[in-house]
Amino acid sequence: MVFCLVFLAIGVRAAVRVWTGNVATAEPVLVVVDWLAAAAAVAFLTLHGRYGVLIDNAEMVREYAEKDREARALAQVNEELRRLDELKSEFLAMVSHELRTPLTAIVGYSRLLLRQAHGTLTPKQLEHQEAIFRGAQRLNDLINDLLDVSRLEAGRIELTPRALNLRHIVEQVGTVVTAAAQARRIHIRTVLAADLPPVQADPSRLQQILVNLVGNAVKFSTPGGEVRILAGRQREQLWVAVEDDGVGIAKDELGRIWDPFYQVEAPMRRRHGGSGLGLAIVRRLVELHGGIVRAESEGEGRGSRFTFTLPVATTPADTSARTTEPPLPIEPVLAGRDVLVVEDERATQELMRAVVEDLLGGHARMCDHGEHCLQLARERTPALVLLDLMLPGLSGWEVARRLRQDPRTSGVPIIAVSALARSQERESALHAGCDAYVAKPFTPDELARLMATTLETQDVGAR
Ligand code: ADP
Repeated sequence: MVFCLVFLAIGVRAAVRVWTGNVATAEPVLVVVDWLAAAAAVAFLTLHGRYGVLIDNAEMVREYAEKDREARALAQVNEELRRLDELKSEFLAMVSHELRTPLTAIVGYSRLLLRQAHGTLTPKQLEHQEAIFRGAQRLNDLINDLLDVSRLEAGRIELTPRALNLRHIVEQVGTVVTAAAQARRIHIRTVLAADLPPVQADPSRLQQILVNLVGNAVKFSTPGGEVRILAGRQREQLWVAVEDDGVGIAKDELGRIWDPFYQVEAPMRRRHGGSGLGLAIVRRLVELHGGIVRAESEGEGRGSRFTFTLPVATTPADTSARTTEPPLPIEPVLAGRDVLVVEDERATQELMRAVVEDLLGGHARMCDHGEHCLQLARERTPALVLLDLMLPGLSGWEVARRLRQDPRTSGVPIIAVSALARSQERESALHAGCDAYVAKPFTPDELARLMATTLETQDVGAR
């Protein structure tokens, strides 16, 4: 600014002198000002020529430093978010573990009582046991839904898609929702196009999607109503629709029902149970498969229609996905043989003992920590080891590894039992040397069948 003003002054002065024609008669003080101004101008030009680059660079350096500071702050926030996300996952895994452990006792013992393995129950007692079992199953479903939502949001669910026959999956869904449908006298009608192509999907996730949609349709239908499952092909996509003539959904609610925990009915006036997580899971699972899902309704009291699409498979359907055969009866296959039960939870220990002794006719040897298990296994080789993974001291994984390393126990089948229920725990257990894995809570029948098949595989392998 100063230089500009000086140059302006010189310019004005020179112009005045030229205009008045008295350059020669100028006062000495004005000549000095001219000289000073000229010197300043030359100095400015010289300095700017030499140091201008530095001045510009200094500006860039300042901007760069500012951006660098911002980037560091962002990286710090990111790191903090990542840490919080990890903490959230750990917290959820821990909470689900802590909830599943007591649920194992509730589910297991109520199932054992329902089997009437230890004496006959009166019809009233049977009814109450059924109610306990159903309640525990609902709690378990809720825990699974909470874990699923959090894993889906964090992008931690991986699909194992394969070519499937939708008809088989729909049959399986039918068996899951039958009890609820019968209780409300709701008829489920299935109308699938005759030339339905195989669909490319993860079987258990596709079943989860359908169980949620059909379960909702049953829940929100008026008693005695009808729920329809329809499917057809549209170019490279297969569409599936679940329709009901029930309570319907107001137009302005159609966008919100997909949010986790959102329910149209106000919490205090709700007539229908549920956590509000089902549709959030459905949407994320369908999108993970590369499909889209949408809800339609003509309004309250006018029914609803939920439609989703999935990619058509390019290979023939995998028939091994069909698991609707009735389960085999449980035989006393252990016939007096020893099973080592490694479990630190008293109630679960006793449940496992009941499975080994009362259902499979074996003999259970109990221990509640890893070192003791290794010692007992070395003393007398068991026919099978039931191994909890979360043990105090030596972990279940380490116990499995050591059993495999020791020639005396390397051939003993090991079934890992865990309340962690994440796929990585299952993988790591198998990797450590376990032959099978069962997640808590399990029913006595499930565990008994798994033990029988593991022993059978072992016997076939030994022959
Ligand atoms: P939940 O069924 O456990 O409440 P969802 O996420 O499955 O949770 O559904 C969210 C909400 O969407 C439900 O509470 C209900 O208000 C509405 N909704 C879902 N399906 C239907 C349906 N078939 N008919 C009417 N309303 C439905």
